[in-house]
This record gives sequence, C-alpha cells and structure tokens, in this order.
Amino acid sequence: MNNNGLLLVISGPSGVGKGTVIEALREKLREKLGRELFLSVSMTTRAPRPGEIDGVHYSFVTREHFAKLVESNGFAEYAEFAGNFYGTPLAPIREHIEAGDIVVFDIEVKGAANMRRIFPEAVSVFIMPPSFEELRRRLSGRGTETPESIEKRLRISREECSRSGEFDHVICNDTVDNAAEKIFRIICDGLDK
Ligand code: ADP
Ligand code: 5GP
Repeated sequence: MNNNGLLLVISGPSGVGKGTVIEALREKLREKLGRELFLSVSMTTRAPRPGEIDGVHYSFVTREHFAKLVESNGFAEYAEFAGNFYGTPLAPIREHIEAGDIVVFDIEVKGAANMRRIFPEAVSVFIMPPSFEELRRRLSGRGTETPESIEKRLRISREECSRSGEFDHVICNDTVDNAAEKIFRIICDGLDK
C-alpha cells in the first residue's frame, strides 16, 4: 500500500458540488486504498448553516478573532468571499505533512493560488458545473442561501471559472461518482510520483 502524503487543493464555484464530491472521494479512498482523507477545517466569519458543526465543517469565529489570527500569521492563506472571511489554519497542515496524510483543501480561487505558491507540490483541481443553469439549480436546490446570496455567488462563479486554467486539472461534476472517480485517479497518480 502506498503511504505517501498528498496536498489536494479543490476549487470551483459555490454550489458546484465540492463538498458532496469530497465526501464521495473519502469513501472511494477508504474502499479502494484503505486510506483516510483529511479535510482541512477552515475558519470562517460566516454564520453556520443548519446542520453544520463547529470544528467539523468549519471553525466559526467572529471577525475580531479572525483578524487576530491574520495578525499572528496563523493562516496559510485567507480570502474574502461573498462578504465573509475564510482562512486555512497553518498549524494542522504541517502536522499532516509530517504524518504523510492525504489532505484536501476546499477553497476558492484566490486562496488556491496562494496555496500553490506556498506548497508548490500541491495538486490542484478545479470543478466545473455542466452549465451555469445547472449551477443555479444546485445552488438554489441546496436551500441554504438567500436569493441575494445566490446572485452574489453566481456572479463570482463567472470570474472563478475564467481562472480554471490556473489549475493542474479541470474536471466537470456531471455526476458525483464520475467526478469523485476522476479525482481519485488524480490522487493515485500523485501518490505514485
Ligand atoms: P459546494 O460545496 O461546491 O458549495 P455542495 O456539495 O454543497 O456544493 O452541492 C450543492 C448542491 O448540489 C447540493 O444540494 C448537492 O446535493 C448538489 N449536487 C452536488 N453534486 C451534484 C451532481 N453531480 N448532480 C446533481 N446535484 C449535485
Ligand atoms: P461556503 O460559504 O459555501 O461554505 O464557502 C464559500 C467559498 O469559500 C467556497 O468557494 C469555499 O471553497 C471557500 N472556502 C472555504 N474555506 C476556505 C478557506 O479556508 N480559504 C479560502 N480561500 N476559501 C475557502
């Protein structure tokens, strides 16, 4: 069994299915390689959605707390997205690298560019929607955003998709299983290097 580590940066428009595909990927890695996928838990100033657990989906913090961590260089990267701040805590990454873990970062495009700069060995994947109409359907179907937030996220998605060429791989999330399988293969290639 391959016990190398890998840093995997995943970006794509809000609502494209990043979280869903990452969960399917987690299952595949367990089943096919017997390996765990560690999801980097970001810190955010956004309010939790129903069902989101502090410390699992995000660490939910105040703007003041977030600003303090920025000042003390506690983030590998951070960015503002749709009116809230999101950041990747630095300390756990070092621990995961030491342990040889497979770590996934679900972050937006500016943060992804910063992560590639800091960790050039990271493998980056951009997830595209089959169409913008389908993206709108998924984003509204999730039932978590206000109409205003949906519009804001869709506006940002155009700019994000125009930056997909910066990534090592671009895949389409047509079905969850297809998308997870493609990323699974990308991970296997990355582990073999
Ligand atoms: P993101 O993490 O990119 O914001 P989510 O994983 O929350 O996106 O997915 C947004 C919505 O789209 C969810 O309701 C999810 O069930 C749905 N979804 C994800 N992938 C697909 C897919 N391939 N086909 C149809 N619906 C999908
Ligand atoms: P959401 O509010 O839908 O959970 O996330 C909004 C966006 O923020 C998504 O594109 C998500 O990938 C991104 N994001 C989540 N955590 C981080 C982070 O730590 N850093 C950056 N740069 N983006 C993040």
